[in-house]
Amino acid sequence: MGTTLRSRLLLSYVAVLLILLALVGFVLLAFLATRPLPTDEIISDLTAVLLDVRAAEGARLGAGGQQSGMGWRARLSAYEQLLTDYLEALSAQRGVRALLIDGDGTVRYDSKGELAAGASVTLVEQTPLVPTNRMRLNTLVQGRFRDPQGDEWLYVAQPLFPVMMEMSLDLPYLTVAAPVPRATLREVFRVFGGTFLRPLAQAGLIALVIAAALSVLIAESVARPLRRMSVAARRIASGDYRQRVRVEGPREVQALARAFNDMAEQVAVAQQAQRDFLANVSHDLRTPLTSIQGFSQAIAEGVASDPAAARRAAQIIHDETARLHRMVESLLDLARLEAGHLELRRQSLALGDLLRGVGESLSVKAREHQLDLVLSIPPDLPRVPGDGDRLAQVFTNLLDNAIKHTPAGGSVTLSATATRDGVTVTVRDTGEGIPPEDLSRIFERFYQVDKSRRRNAESGLGLGLAIARQIVEAHGGTIKVSSTVGQGSTFTVWLPLKAAF
Ligand code: ADP
Repeated sequence: MGTTLRSRLLLSYVAVLLILLALVGFVLLAFLATRPLPTDEIISDLTAVLLDVRAAEGARLGAGGQQSGMGWRARLSAYEQLLTDYLEALSAQRGVRALLIDGDGTVRYDSKGELAAGASVTLVEQTPLVPTNRMRLNTLVQGRFRDPQGDEWLYVAQPLFPVMMEMSLDLPYLTVAAPVPRATLREVFRVFGGTFLRPLAQAGLIALVIAAALSVLIAESVARPLRRMSVAARRIASGDYRQRVRVEGPREVQALARAFNDMAEQVAVAQQAQRDFLANVSHDLRTPLTSIQGFSQAIAEGVASDPAAARRAAQIIHDETARLHRMVESLLDLARLEAGHLELRRQSLALGDLLRGVGESLSVKAREHQLDLVLSIPPDLPRVPGDGDRLAQVFTNLLDNAIKHTPAGGSVTLSATATRDGVTVTVRDTGEGIPPEDLSRIFERFYQVDKSRRRNAESGLGLGLAIARQIVEAHGGTIKVSSTVGQGSTFTVWLPLKAAF
């Protein structure tokens, strides 16, 4: 659990769901706990009690209060005495709190015994029980009062004496009270359980099913392409480089698939290059080795008894050995360049002098090929930072190639111009040119345009341009070629004025 994408998604959905349900439940509970409870029933009960009291104590009032010759205050206190005894019994019997409270909240009597005579309560609200326009003194009122402890009570009250009696405004009210109802925790949970638990659970269950379906869908849309990629990757690892994956799924996964396909392409190209390289190296090694073997055997067997033939055989062996030597040197060079191990000397080079020197050294060869070698190098060419020997190697190779690939009567031009931030050197010939399909590949190791054209005395190894490019790029420069078959080729080298190495 928790390891696959699907189970993680499902877990997170369930977590969110539970948190949400808990929140909703909590809000509902809070609502239930704080909502005001209905008080009508309590008021009716209190009213009934009050009316009962009135009916029962009416007789007493008559008995105790009709004695003539007493002032109403004296009558009141006599009556109160009778009344309170009765109220005490009543409150115990009917489960209400009975009080005598003056209009201003001063307590005369409390059946609960909590409030001493003279203490006062706060009348929070008081309204006639039955709405009337005129407030009469014996009107039944209802309301709420707060005792000194802060507890609130609902009450129904009526002035103790009918209005026709002489009385002052501070006459007492006969009051019956019950606590303002509070939602108990138990009650809250009961209502919650009865009303909300079921729909909440049902909603949760439905959401759970949807979450499960969604997590499967989303997880699959990501996992499926990933699974395909891992299968393809394993196949590539075991040597099947044609493996490609379909670009599908979320955008990030698509990007990964594209990157994967690019990588597979690169691996395939690299593998092909490596195979080509091996094939080329072995081929290039085998040819001279075969002739060395053949000619040395001929000498050993005395076939070349004629000293001139023996010398020729020895010369061939010498030439082929030199060729092998050159080749191994070039390979080593290239390996070092490609690994970035070649230390370039950073000198301030008078590039003009260097180019003139290269032209000079190849002028003989150009003359042998009956070519016109033109040097167009301005005297004020800026100095560039670089490794003189290595750059001379580059331009010698370019000029040598141009001479090799240009038929007699043509011309080869070596020119240089200063640009804003560097120097551009071009080697242009009027030779055979390079077919467009080969142009992009001639800088590859061992790439030669026409393999059948090789194997003459001057044939190279197909490494020269690869090495040239490595050297130029190590200087932070660029090398480019353009060519038209039958008209000639132009190699352009740009070197920066600021050292990039
Ligand atoms: P190589 O040692 O065979 O000359 P390079 O790497 O120097 O190897 O050149 C690669 C191939 O590019 C050559 O085999 C040749 O066919 C082609 N090439 C190079 N320079 C020229 C040129 N100036 N004109 C026509 N073909 C050229």
